[in-house]
Amino acid sequence: MDYAEVLQQIAHELAPVIGQGKVASYIPELASVSPHHFGMAVVTIAGEVFTVGDARQPFSIQSISKLFTLVMALQLEDEKVWTRVGREPSGTPFNSLVQLEAENGKPRNPFINPGALVCTDILCTRYAVPENAVVEFLRPLCGNREVHYNRAVAASERRTSHRNAAMAHLMKAFGNLNNPVGEVLDAYCRHCAIEMNCVELARAVTFLAHGGTHPAGQGNILSTSMAKRLNALMLTCGTYDAAGDFAFRVGLPAKSGVGGGIVAVMPGECGVCVWSPALEPSGNSLAGSLALERFTDITGRSIF
Ligand code: GLN
Repeated sequence: MDYAEVLQQIAHELAPVIGQGKVASYIPELASVSPHHFGMAVVTIAGEVFTVGDARQPFSIQSISKLFTLVMALQLEDEKVWTRVGREPSGTPFNSLVQLEAENGKPRNPFINPGALVCTDILCTRYAVPENAVVEFLRPLCGNREVHYNRAVAASERRTSHRNAAMAHLMKAFGNLNNPVGEVLDAYCRHCAIEMNCVELARAVTFLAHGGTHPAGQGNILSTSMAKRLNALMLTCGTYDAAGDFAFRVGLPAKSGVGGGIVAVMPGECGVCVWSPALEPSGNSLAGSLALERFTDITGRSIF
């Protein structure tokens, strides 16, 4: 399929809405990003790359890192991960504390903040510098050996991460965090502050479109059955409490972040990433969600 033309059409159609919505400002360093960026990339499992707009400009991946820390936690602990974190959509904002108290410190799923803090805790147990391990994991997957995290963004979030600290302490009180709260928060804020561009992120998720094996020779990342499960989790939980509406509109497994990025997977075909920093109230990129909706409408392809 000629994705180049599809991407051009999407960028053209969406031009009037780019910049609508609000850039995340609760992480002070992110507030200065211009809301007017728009980039989109498709990387097929055959290795073809299609782009439009700001697809090669790095941005803060934020919660998209939750996908990669979950993959790493699964590689380390396999099914044991599910004893500490659930697999149900939360129906609440990504930084809500309500269910955590009611459900004895076991987060609903790995794609909301407390779930990602548990995955980060697993990495803290295994690695001396977990954020570096995440970066090292991503470099070959995305094809850029220079990927790194932005120290100013990490420090800015760490200084203001009171809700995440509250979640981590609550889980610690329930016995669902093994490492010191401060260490887990440091690592978490740093992997959220990793910067990548649309092409790199689309390439990094191609293994999920390819039964768990990286199509460009980086080996088996996950078993086929685990890759299937991860795609299912992305579909049901990857876009926070908008996941139902997103599945309805887009019909692809996806994971978003408050930096304005969304990665999506078309099984058997390609990885997709879109970036536009202005968000809807749920925390998903407004133009990004619309772009993915148009992508599946125009191509006539989705998982359904
Ligand atoms: N680092 C952000 C936080 O913990 C990530 C949230 C997000 O992208 N939804 O709040």
